[in-house]
Parts: sequence; structure tokens; C-alpha cells
Amino acid sequence: MAATILIALGSNRRHGRHGRPEGVVTAAIAALAAAGLAVTARSRTHPTAPLGPGGRRFANAVVAVHSALPLTDVLAIIKGIERGFGRRGGQRWGDRVLDLDIIGAGAEVVRSGALQVPHPRLAGRRFVLDPLVEVAPMWRHPLQNLTARQLRARAMRPKARG
Ligand code: ATP
Ligand code: CA
Ligand code: CA
Repeated sequence: MAATILIALGSNRRHGRHGRPEGVVTAAIAALAAAGLAVTARSRTHPTAPLGPGGRRFANAVVAVHSALPLTDVLAIIKGIERGFGRRGGQRWGDRVLDLDIIGAGAEVVRSGALQVPHPRLAGRRFVLDPLVEVAPMWRHPLQNLTARQLRARAMRPKARG
């Protein structure tokens, strides 16, 4: 049976053909569909402030796709799309034309070197949680046993002290 897979998109560089990061995100969603991942829902595209000084603003979004493929195949597809948008290796957390991450897939848990689902840095990331809640507010994190909406509410609370 086809499962719902949640994929986060991010871009903070222009692309020669697709233009600004917002255009890159829109084109990347079309590329996911063209690669056979049926897009069933998409968030708005959110602007996100750069992380470091001098950094470039990001455009972020989340989509839900349907696919019967194993998650390792989905990872191979999204890495192929990143390469197709001109992304090269060695840009972790830095400027990138396109970043595609598998955020979650129902109750599936994968913890291998090459693939971690749910994404291990999801809980602290408003730039993922905000669009995720638009697409799948009731998706439940299988390890934390909290819905996307609850994860976002927690991320918005000021940190407890002491
Ligand atoms: P972060 O993982 O903190 O969001 P990043 O997206 O910049 O950082 P990348 O350089 O894009 O990191 O990816 C590094 C590796 O992470 C990829 O080669 C991939 O094998 C692995 N990876 C593990 N889990 C996932 C996942 N859920 N989605 C996408 N890639 C993953
Ligand atoms: Ca990422
Ligand atoms: Ca990534």
C-alpha cells in the first residue's frame, strides 16, 4: 500500500532557470511529481531568515507525497533531484540551491547511517515545523509520540530555565 511520506524543501540560492529560492521550491515540487512521487498536499512557501551573518534568506516548504517505494529509494530519488538542480556535495548547512529531506513516513522508524526517519533534527526547526503543520498537523512522531502540531507548539514555547 502506498504510504504518505513528508518531504521538506529548502533553497537559499538562485537557480539559472528557476530564479529565486521560491521559484526553486516550486520547480522542485514539480520535479518530485515528475519522478513518480504523487504530491497530495503542499504547504505555502515560507521565507526563513538566514542562520548566520551574511547568509541568504531561505525559502522552505513541506509536501506530502504518496509512494509505495521503500524509503531508501525515495532518498535516492530526492538526492538525484538535488543534483539535477545543480547541488554539489560538501554544502551541509551552508548555501544550497536545493535541500530535500525526508521528515517522516507514517509510523516508520529508520536509523541507519545513510537514512534517519523521522528526521533527527526536526523538533527544533520552526522552518520545518511551520510548513509541516499546514500539510500534516495530525502526523504523529513515532518516537516522541507527539503530533506535528504538538511538536510545533513545544518548539514555540520559551525554553525552561534551570
Ligand atoms: P540536516 O540533516 O541537518 O538537515 P543537511 O540536510 O544539510 O543537514 P545533507 O548534506 O543534505 O544534510 O545530507 C547529508 C546526508 O544525510 C545525506 O547524504 C543523506 O544520506 C543523509 N540523511 C539521513 N537521513 C536523511 C533524511 N531523513 N532525509 C534526507 N537525507 C538524510
Ligand atoms: Ca536539511
Ligand atoms: Ca538534506
